[in-house]
Amino acid sequence: MRDAGINLCRIGEFAWSRLEPRQNEFTLDWLHQTLDILAEHGIDVMMCTPTPTPPAWLTRAYPDTVMANARGQRAHHGARRHYCPSSRTYREHTRRIVTKLVTDLKSHRNIVAWQLDNEFGPEYGWCHCDNCQEGFRAWLKARYETLDRLNEAWKTGFWSTDYTDWAQIRLAEDDYLPIYPSRRMDSRRFWSDTINAYAAYQYDLVRSIDPDITITTNGMGPIYTFFDYFKLFDKMDVACDDLYFDYATQDCNALTMNVYRSFKPGKPFWIAETGSGALDHNRPPLPDQFRAWAYSSWAHGGDAHIVFRWRTCLSGQEQELQGILEHNGRPRHRYRTVQKTFNEIRQVRQQLGEMPLPKADVAFIVDFNTLWGYESARVGAEVGANQQMMTLHKQLYARNVLADFIPPTRDFQQYRLIILANLMMIDAAFAERLKAFVRGGGIVLAIGQIGMRDFNDNYLAETAPQHLHDLLGITIEGGMYLTSFVGPDEALARPVRHSRPVELPMSGAIGDAQIRGIARAWAADCDVQDATILLRFDTDTYAGQAALTEKPTGNGKAIYLATTHPDDALLGRLIEYALAAAQVPLGPAAPLYVEVVRRGAVSFCINHTAEPQQVQLDTPGRPVLGAVEENTVKLAPFGVAIVKHD
Ligand SMILES: [Zn+2]
Repeated sequence: MRDAGINLCRIGEFAWSRLEPRQNEFTLDWLHQTLDILAEHGIDVMMCTPTPTPPAWLTRAYPDTVMANARGQRAHHGARRHYCPSSRTYREHTRRIVTKLVTDLKSHRNIVAWQLDNEFGPEYGWCHCDNCQEGFRAWLKARYETLDRLNEAWKTGFWSTDYTDWAQIRLAEDDYLPIYPSRRMDSRRFWSDTINAYAAYQYDLVRSIDPDITITTNGMGPIYTFFDYFKLFDKMDVACDDLYFDYATQDCNALTMNVYRSFKPGKPFWIAETGSGALDHNRPPLPDQFRAWAYSSWAHGGDAHIVFRWRTCLSGQEQELQGILEHNGRPRHRYRTVQKTFNEIRQVRQQLGEMPLPKADVAFIVDFNTLWGYESARVGAEVGANQQMMTLHKQLYARNVLADFIPPTRDFQQYRLIILANLMMIDAAFAERLKAFVRGGGIVLAIGQIGMRDFNDNYLAETAPQHLHDLLGITIEGGMYLTSFVGPDEALARPVRHSRPVELPMSGAIGDAQIRGIARAWAADCDVQDATILLRFDTDTYAGQAALTEKPTGNGKAIYLATTHPDDALLGRLIEYALAAAQVPLGPAAPLYVEVVRRGAVSFCINHTAEPQQVQLDTPGRPVLGAVEENTVKLAPFGVAIVKHD
């Protein structure tokens, strides 16, 4: 490990049955020995609490610690994350094992951080046990106080959903449709609060024993919608992500890192897990790809890059996930790749010293209410805030423009461009701050379903976009899904389901460019009161109506695109137009998947393609890594160059 340049490792996240083989019988000798050996070789440790995998004796003796599905069936032993986060009994066992571990291991000074649990979330589904059902009802009582208020907020009545007794209300079943959207929405909120409360319980426990240690947990991405990660990482000391780069497209990997950098403003994120080999048999990264990913992580603000795992498992559920060493424990290709990369990065880090984090002028507003709203209702798979943000982010990524991802409650006055992607729930206070932002010269780009629902996932009786009519100068009177029209050869059922995608043409001008584009997935039925129409729909029901509008206010303006997934060329042009209005410069021109990320006076140039590439930088500099002539950076396939500008 030391020879491979590894100076931090993460251990113990699933080891409960080896730490406490029988209740109150602890066997920590092997762990002390491991920590001592690592210390001898200068390797720091992120120690983990083992709570994702309770031992068999525990789940057998205390069945109320095990989660139950919507039909009330308890999970069986042998999975992971199959505990009930509401269970008081489980908290008691959590307290015992965590207290024992932190207290006993505190003397090991090479423990630099604690990871709580592992990938908090509903890996096995959310729990529906009686404790959770009672907890949900208590949570609802605290939120609504009376059943009348709950019925009013949920707008019950349809399908006889009025409630006359709290005992009638149950958590949303998560395995079949259709569920009343408001009930599902509040179930999501309850589960989010429950898992966050359990994470906070562990945090406070570790903190009470070790007042100075870094405490965190490992999340997932790109935008993990299962529970409120802003709340989770507000509590944690550092944002950690398990980012397997081969799992998503590289623009989504960059999005993930931008999201994690945004969780803790001003603080680097850590990658708690990444792969040096294949997640399964199918897709091993090339050696230089691993290196390119590691530099990309550093460029985007990553401060730790931990490989899962050291030696490939002989047995168990993850035996196909390739570790750094082979099954036989011998160092081969992946070891050499890790060794080359980590030792090189260590040298380069010494040369570069401290760098500021990359700074974004663009921010997406991410609201878990909207994310859960889409997942709680029946909408087409293409319509949603998450997918929309990924599509838009790819256009920014292709232009080497960095973006942050922030909650609506966070101050955004330091940004130049704010993007609302299908933000279908708009809070009045947020709308006021958005207006002040535009008056002060900021640009807002709003896309698709904006301000159409309340925070209980019901459509509004008033005209959309709620609270933003003045800013956008339009009303959204309704909309149309573009999955299919009814052609003579189309059917929902007979003889078999058959449809064709609808592509709705639109045309006009964006800036001085004449545009012909295509709307997909959803189109808004807009009336324009006080905005300039840049594009109009050309055909079908909305022919002649606004497809793209803009309205200046003060020194800024608000742009609205009345569809969700336009074609890439139009979306790219629109993004460039919004960036220009916001006076956000494009990054150095480069083919897609050739990244240039700036950290202070340092440019990271990373080629994620299998072909050689060139990048023209705006300012001269000297190479710290790779080849630079004048301002031209030459990159081998999956090559990396780092340029320091003086
Ligand atoms: Zn439960």
